[in-house]
Amino acid sequence: MNIVLTGGSGFIGSHLSKELLKDSENKLIVVDNLLTGNLDNIQNLLDHENATFIQHDVQDHIEINEKVDYVFHLASAASPVAYTENPVNTLKAGSLGTINTLGLARKHNAEYFLASTSEVYGDPLITPQNEEYWGNVNPNGERSMYDEAKRFAEAATATYARSYNIKAKIIRIFNTYGPNMQLNDGRVVTNLIVQALNDEDLTIYGDGSQTRSFSYVSDTVAGILAMMKSDHYEVFNIGNPYEMTVKELAETILKLTSSKSKIIYKPLPNDDPQQRRPDITKAKEKLNWEPKIDLETGLNTTIDWIKQELSK
Ligand code: UDP
Repeated sequence: MNIVLTGGSGFIGSHLSKELLKDSENKLIVVDNLLTGNLDNIQNLLDHENATFIQHDVQDHIEINEKVDYVFHLASAASPVAYTENPVNTLKAGSLGTINTLGLARKHNAEYFLASTSEVYGDPLITPQNEEYWGNVNPNGERSMYDEAKRFAEAATATYARSYNIKAKIIRIFNTYGPNMQLNDGRVVTNLIVQALNDEDLTIYGDGSQTRSFSYVSDTVAGILAMMKSDHYEVFNIGNPYEMTVKELAETILKLTSSKSKIIYKPLPNDDPQQRRPDITKAKEKLNWEPKIDLETGLNTTIDWIKQELSK
């Protein structure tokens, strides 16, 4: 298959591109503007005979001359710090970037795969969140360049699928962590591990009672591949249902790093969701997928990787 992958040098994209290249029948074209992606993440790909890298921003028209069978649209700033620092680019990656990549899929009669997010549920009023839930989102809040752009991206994907018979799938990715994250992306896992390893205070925003459910990246990527291989042209939650408070996460990281750091409290950002936990019943039943890596195992691998990065 000839596969176009936008965002292929980012965190999840870099792991996905590696998996896709394991199949020697696949040819991969990675499209990435390197705003939050990193060529270090895809050194294997740059030298690979079945892969091509194109530095391009998805907000601009994309032309690929070879045949394209499959389009993955993952490109976007995705951490609250990254999308707050790049608000217009994030808005355009989710909106224009989705229209442009859908146009590419339409032109080539290719299948389409949209990376959406648990952020489409906003600050959810039900828990766990299943795919039927419409969410509780502030349409013009400080996260709207990301969450509303992703909601638009879902609407665009559904509309193109209905109007032009494009075979399309939508994944809602819940908090994912692991090697290849940007250490300065401001996410809770990277911030707390870097702080613990550097003997700095661990910053908890708010009182730390807000919850998240963390999926190790290999599980998330296995979910993407299970969706890709399936005949279900639908929306799937992919994430780990093990829910914990941010305070519990900080305590776990202190324990696993044997750090003497203290915990300090900072203001909670506006519109920060109070709870988040995926209902993955649908993915279990229809894709036969579920996460395999428990939190301590995933965190230990991530801590080792961050240690190496910090020592560079
Ligand atoms: N958070 C925190 N300390 C940090 C960074 C984040 O307490 O140094 C909190 C943040 O306010 C949110 C949760 O951790 O409640 C997860 O934040 P993250 O940025 O990782 O992702 P989100 O799920 O909000 O997109």
